[in-house]
Amino acid sequence: MEKWINWLGRDQLQSELSPDLRDEMPSGLESRPAFVKEGSRYRCGRCGSICCLRQAYPCICKQHCYYCRECIQLGKVRACDRLISLPETGGFKPLEQPVLKWKGILSPQQEEASKDILQTVRQGGTRIVWAVTGAGKTEMLFEAVAEGLAEGKRVCIASPRIDVCLELSPRLQEAFDQVDMTTLYGGSGEVYRRTQLVIATTHQLLRFKEAFDVMIVDEIDAFPYYLNEALYYAAKKALVLGGSQIFLTATPDRQMLKAIRSGRIDATILPARYHKHPLPVPEARLLKGSLGHGLAGSCNASAHLLRLLQKKRRCLVFIPTILYMEILLPDFERQFKDWRFAWVHSKDPERKEKIQQMRQGELDFLLTTTILERGVTFADIDVIVVKADHAVYTEAALVQIAGRAGRSSAYPEGEVTFYCEHWTRPIKRSIRQIEAMNRTARKRGLLQ
Ligand SMILES: [Zn+2]
Ligand SMILES: [Zn+2]
Repeated sequence: MEKWINWLGRDQLQSELSPDLRDEMPSGLESRPAFVKEGSRYRCGRCGSICCLRQAYPCICKQHCYYCRECIQLGKVRACDRLISLPETGGFKPLEQPVLKWKGILSPQQEEASKDILQTVRQGGTRIVWAVTGAGKTEMLFEAVAEGLAEGKRVCIASPRIDVCLELSPRLQEAFDQVDMTTLYGGSGEVYRRTQLVIATTHQLLRFKEAFDVMIVDEIDAFPYYLNEALYYAAKKALVLGGSQIFLTATPDRQMLKAIRSGRIDATILPARYHKHPLPVPEARLLKGSLGHGLAGSCNASAHLLRLLQKKRRCLVFIPTILYMEILLPDFERQFKDWRFAWVHSKDPERKEKIQQMRQGELDFLLTTTILERGVTFADIDVIVVKADHAVYTEAALVQIAGRAGRSSAYPEGEVTFYCEHWTRPIKRSIRQIEAMNRTARKRGLLQ
């Protein structure tokens, strides 16, 4: 059994079994076909998608086999393979009290949320925590995670984004210093090891089955809706029957909003920031009669940027795509040659350094694609969005982008301006959503 310890709660392919494990199969081992037939279609047993493709060349089974395209990054699931899982048995090293070493203070609304989450962890079931950007989500999880760990439960904190996992990991290790913990993401290079606390990208959850008593998923809105279905499938498969699921979001999608409003799902709403100042409401500036080349908006935006810089403000300027950024860059370099600035995008190898420079005040402004829409915090900045009517800017993206301003309690204010040639639904809805949260916060007496 000792050899199988790392298989507890895992969902792996039979072909991944090392020869020494094959000699000694433990009792309780579940083996199931890799695909399940549903009518005329096949569903992948690992990721739940029905996207299976016929292999172009004969498979190792010497036939024209099928495989799953959706989860291929984790290794090919072939129709001739089997999935093997071993239920989690628990039995982790007992922990000494206090399990939680964090000594901070929760705001009254965080306190309430913390109690709600604790209740869900005790009772099982699902809870949505809808918290505005800057509400301080991580801290309100601590108490529930601590209790779960102390009771010997296996706990997972997942996010679709690697950046979020990498940011959470040291904070959790510090808060729960005696708890064995691993951080799992594609390309981490680490060999998998079973631990009581796991931080993982949601993609990695597909490698688990009935492993966790508590599953917390942060930033469920990070990707468009169609990817969310896969996320919920992965989270559910990795959860033990009757376990607790907590989903955190700053911008719930339509379907989730409906579920919250109709009371079909338990929800906790945190409408105020930790520092008790309202969220900056974006101002949308509609550019009429642009010359049709799509770049007109950037002239107004750069004039606006110049005015802000002259007032000694520092800015984050969002540009929809890398291509767009490349087109605009020569203009920016000419116009702003006397200012310190940099540009970052997802393919930029120096992006960490540039973000650090911005953080330390060595730059006056930073041009960025949506990669900085979430996760990063700069103190005292204004935000400009060029071409806010571009398709990359969903409602969730715009709410997150606006949420970059006014984060720190020392500088709780910031100006957010959307430049656009058309009013889009995401623009209207994001502004409405932010205003509604501010109203709710005011009504509940959560603002100063
Ligand atoms: Zn699959
Ligand atoms: Zn095959």
